[in-house]
Amino acid sequence: MNKKTHCQKSIFWRWQYWGYFSLLLISVNCIAVETKVKQTQWVSIPLGVAGGIEENNLSAYLLAPAGSTDFICLDAGTLYQGLNVARQAGSFATITIPTDVNPAMYLLRQHVKAYLISHAHLDHLNGLILNATDDSAKPILGLPIVLTDIQNNLFNWRIFPNFADAGVQPYLKKYHYITLEPATTVDIPNTSLKVTAFPLSHGKNYDSTAFLIQANEHYALYLGDTGADSIENSDKLQQLWAYIAPLVKKQQLNGIFIESAYPNARPTNQLYGHLTPALILQSLQQLAQQVDSEHPEQALKDLTIIVTHIKPNTDTQIDNRALIQNELTEENHLNLTFILAEQGQRIEF
Ligand SMILES: [Zn+2]
Repeated sequence: MNKKTHCQKSIFWRWQYWGYFSLLLISVNCIAVETKVKQTQWVSIPLGVAGGIEENNLSAYLLAPAGSTDFICLDAGTLYQGLNVARQAGSFATITIPTDVNPAMYLLRQHVKAYLISHAHLDHLNGLILNATDDSAKPILGLPIVLTDIQNNLFNWRIFPNFADAGVQPYLKKYHYITLEPATTVDIPNTSLKVTAFPLSHGKNYDSTAFLIQANEHYALYLGDTGADSIENSDKLQQLWAYIAPLVKKQQLNGIFIESAYPNARPTNQLYGHLTPALILQSLQQLAQQVDSEHPEQALKDLTIIVTHIKPNTDTQIDNRALIQNELTEENHLNLTFILAEQGQRIEF
């Protein structure tokens, strides 16, 4: 091989390597961008998802930042059964459970760090009351009226012993009430999370709660039972959207838990403070307008919408879950990602 040819060859190879190197850089960049968009920020394990009659499957949603096993529990309709279902589904695969314990009770005692209760309806509290005897000490967070209802009407030595630290004496002090003030952010004890509570309208003269949960720079929003502003003659959802719109704009809000108790055919005068797919889409359209009024159809595309509290059809064989899923999909002009929560099935978003 003469010198010139060798030199030409090495220039050729250098260019070729440079080419490969650039290609590699471009692909690494693409992967990085892709990963950034899809990076999981939150893990939720629903312990109960139905909006009634299924005593073993009532509203309760575990939530933790991705990588953490310190969960908060948003509402507490069903706990023990939900933990069993979730464990059997492999949703707690990252937690090592000792072999000589009751697994569901171990999870409840060690990994559920606090309860946040949206309102005191029994389908949101049943599990908390029934597991109180065997649970570990932890706080219960809620708006004043919610905690007052629990204190006066449930943990009152009549309906159940007083496992909390206020109300009818003596106090067993397993649970510590933490009263939240609307739109005021506080730390959730035993976790790295913060919460801000907002009142929701859940039927005439009855408030429920939305909890905005914060982990560092990321947020998840959980709505307890709520009606639509248009039906409830309220502006509570509008006010909530105004608060969270900047977080959506900055892509800091990753997901919203929102209820669809009934399908669209439910008469307006029988909604009793609940939503339907059409009302969810109408409400989220208002949020989209606040986030980006010029391109509302793109404004919420990075959000995961977790649909909760679907009431089983008690009159016919119609599957309300399938019906609601169809109704959400058919009119999904906002390009939203909907997930229908399922008991025990881990959701990452
Ligand atoms: Zn309710």
